Amino acid sequence: MAVPDVELHQDLRSAVGELCRRFPDNYWRDLDRKEAYPDEFVQTLTEAGYLAALIPEQYGGSGLGITEAAIILEEVNRSGGNSAACHAQMYIMGTLLRHGSEAQKRAYLPRIASGELRLQAFGVTEPTTGTDTTQLQTMAVRNGDLYVVNGQKVWISRAEYSDLMLLIARTTPREEVAKKTDGLSVFLVDLRTAVGNGVTIRPLRAMMNHATTEVFFDNLEVPAENRIGEEGRGFRYLLDGLNAERILIAAECVGDGRWFIERAVKYANERVVFNRPIGKNQGVQFPIARAHVNVEAADLMRARAAELFDGGQPCGAEANMAKLLAADASWEAANVALQTFGGFGFAEDYDIERKFRETRLYQVAPISTNLILSYIAEHVLGLPRSF
Ligand SMILES: Cc1cc2nc3c(=O)[nH]c(=O)nc-3n(C[C@H](O)[C@H](O)[C@H](O)COP(=O)(O)OP(=O)(O)OC[C@H]3O[C@@H](n4cnc5c(N)ncnc54)[C@H](O)[C@@H]3O)c2cc1C
Repeated sequence: MAVPDVELHQDLRSAVGELCRRFPDNYWRDLDRKEAYPDEFVQTLTEAGYLAALIPEQYGGSGLGITEAAIILEEVNRSGGNSAACHAQMYIMGTLLRHGSEAQKRAYLPRIASGELRLQAFGVTEPTTGTDTTQLQTMAVRNGDLYVVNGQKVWISRAEYSDLMLLIARTTPREEVAKKTDGLSVFLVDLRTAVGNGVTIRPLRAMMNHATTEVFFDNLEVPAENRIGEEGRGFRYLLDGLNAERILIAAECVGDGRWFIERAVKYANERVVFNRPIGKNQGVQFPIARAHVNVEAADLMRARAAELFDGGQPCGAEANMAKLLAADASWEAANVALQTFGGFGFAEDYDIERKFRETRLYQVAPISTNLILSYIAEHVLGLPRSF
């Protein structure tokens, strides 16, 4: 197993932290109020090369590991920002890298690395089938050199701010395949030409500022050369990318958790009620201390999962456990911070309520806590398959 490069990691943390200080609380607060996309932040992060961390050097990226990519996203969230504006590029890119042809990699990866092309949209979830991905209804029917796509996706984040979408659709009807995981294929859809020509994007207002949308496909023509990998094997390609996604989201949750704890500690030291700082009361101290313990424990599992991933070892159990523990820890820390701030926690100007809404998502998306527990029960512990 590779030895962690402590110096590189410290340098990375301080460089990302410094970049994030240019985007303080009020930057994110204003965007939240306006439900606006953090264009300037995402562009700055891209220009600094951070979103290309996982792209190999031969394609213009920095060729770093998931450990370093996770540190970047953690620091964004720890600064009070929200990596959800741009995190998908890191993990969707892996499908292209692992399963794309050499021609596709040369065509797209250097331009994604430079920021010329944004690969921020991931089209999986559908309104009627939810977590049960193999039942998805969107169809891509081959017609000569094209596929004709019809269907609908929901909760497709950043579609309005992305040039490309990684789309999963059924290419062979469910009734004609032996296994439900067969017959799904993955495509790169060029949204720059598709919108208005078979693709309609409708913003979906949500609890937090997440630039999420509904996407409708009406006879969209996708060149066959935009299919990634073999026809019918898309579900496997999707599964291949999940460990990276879990580890990166776990890192964001650790970043959120640390942000909440720092803010809670500062406030508990400063706020004086009954002639003493509220933090002097153990009823206030202990929940903060416990949340800190849980965030740090989750961070260890995140580090372990990342170490296995970077060493090319199986890490499904660790990646899933890291995501679950980190999402729980950040949510606990969010609640503790809100409680510590009392009434002021609900005021927009303190940012606790914004981050509270943002971190709540990770109990549900991109994979819900129940589905992780189900994976652990069945695949790690050998309990009977439930569904
Ligand atoms: C803000 C936001 C952004 C998102 N961005 C994207 C995106 O960019 N791309 C994309 O493709 N998707 C995206 N999603 C979708 C997200 O991945 C799904 O919401 C998530 O996978 C859950 O699916 P669902 O909402 O359909 O819930 P459902 O599948 O309907 O599940 C509802 C609840 O029931 C539980 N449940 C369901 N089945 C079982 C079972 N067998 N056992 C126990 N519990 C069960 C689930 O855990 C969940 O809590 C986003 C969602 C949100 C809210």
